[in-house]
Amino acid sequence: MMFFSRRFSAKKSITRKLLETNRTKFSWVRRFQPIHTTTHRPTRGSRGGTSGRRRRRRPVSAPAATPTTPQPASQAAGPLAEPARQGFAAFNLAPPVLRALKVLGFEEPTPIQARSLAPILQGRDLIGQAHTGSGKTAAYGIPLVQRLRHRGAVQALVIVPTRELAIQVTQSIQALAQFTDLKLLAVYGGYDMSLQTAALRAGVDLVVSTPGRLIDHVWQGTIELDQVHVVVLDEADEMLSMGFIDDVERILSWLPPGTQKLLFSATLPERVRRLASQFLDKPVSIRVADTEETIPDIAQAYSTARGEAKLDLVCRLLKDEAVEQALIFCRTKQRVDRLTRRLRERGIEAEAIHSDLTQARRTAVMKRFRRGAVRVLVATDVASRGIDVRRVTHVINFDCPANPDEYIHRIGRTGRAGRSGSALTFIGPKEHGLLKAIEKRVGRKLERWPEDEDQPSPPPRPRRRRRR
Ligand code: AMP
Repeated sequence: MMFFSRRFSAKKSITRKLLETNRTKFSWVRRFQPIHTTTHRPTRGSRGGTSGRRRRRRPVSAPAATPTTPQPASQAAGPLAEPARQGFAAFNLAPPVLRALKVLGFEEPTPIQARSLAPILQGRDLIGQAHTGSGKTAAYGIPLVQRLRHRGAVQALVIVPTRELAIQVTQSIQALAQFTDLKLLAVYGGYDMSLQTAALRAGVDLVVSTPGRLIDHVWQGTIELDQVHVVVLDEADEMLSMGFIDDVERILSWLPPGTQKLLFSATLPERVRRLASQFLDKPVSIRVADTEETIPDIAQAYSTARGEAKLDLVCRLLKDEAVEQALIFCRTKQRVDRLTRRLRERGIEAEAIHSDLTQARRTAVMKRFRRGAVRVLVATDVASRGIDVRRVTHVINFDCPANPDEYIHRIGRTGRAGRSGSALTFIGPKEHGLLKAIEKRVGRKLERWPEDEDQPSPPPRPRRRRRR
């Protein structure tokens, strides 16, 4: 999508083009195809020589998902093979699950679901390399709902890195369980423990939790693990980068032998691999697409504007009604607060979210953002993982993300649920190397914001004379 193409020379029409990106509808099939070329990071099974071109889209029933470890022939052709063109009917799901899928409008399994539902339903351990937005919550949520019965004792755990994700995952699984009597609970820190304890005493079948608070409940005896037979580690790489991996390891070591273990992660750093080889039993490995991410169709641009010009550009964009909801990322909590204040001073209603806010405040802001009551949310990277708000049409990286991974996580907050989206990233004078790394990672050039070209180029630096 050339929304930033130079041929739209009038500034207004460029802005308009950027703002219009969300108006195109995309089918699920299209959404789950990678936009990467295979040139930059060839992986096993990738085809070379497609530089600069998008790969041909394949139907969902024959996705680009590839097992990353060799499967025994019997499995490759047997029950683990992806069912051909039968939608969810191929998985013998119970009527309440099928009914929920119908209500949710899930007609066809996404590639990660098509690949992982059968092995999970069979009780196999699994490593799923999939990004948020790939439908991975339902990939483990459907089998959980199918296999659990209401007993009022914790039988399954889903461990996630952030509180926001705990709430979201609970809501997603609750939607799948709406025609069952299963009881779910989100358990996370920063929230009154006694309220969670009371809810747990009332009888909960599935707990979605951050690692630290789960450990607190286990120590306190309010969560007992002896009935647990499935555990899901969601966003394992993020748990590693947030320093939770030792806690996760501790929880895994407490689980009854034979517990089914499912690990989902966008990337598989060495430490996560080690954890998997220590705790998972002959896991089936599934990876969606040749690269780790599946990026929906997002128009991506960058600007080198600085200071007031940067703020002017952001305000101009946000004032356009085509921006349904926008997520703006800043590097630090202080910068989030300052930008939120400055936007408000300029008449733009914005809310801030970062880890210094109380949990009650964070939850309230996210709730309002999800409902659409907050249009502009300014955030640190706390909001870059897993958050699924369909109406986010624009992501603005007010501060450039620290690395290409973080860039992918941030822009993945738009272009969700089959919509397209737009992302604008501000690049500082010393961040051009980072821009190159991002472009390499996403397999395309980011369009330069056209108005930048009107800015005079900075005068060349005077060369230092060498001392003789
Ligand atoms: P996730 O990757 O789990 O965050 O899911 C991303 C989005 O995809 C969520 O809004 C889900 O409701 C949606 N989704 C998951 N599975 C399907 C499916 N089979 N068909 C349509 N939408 C889906």
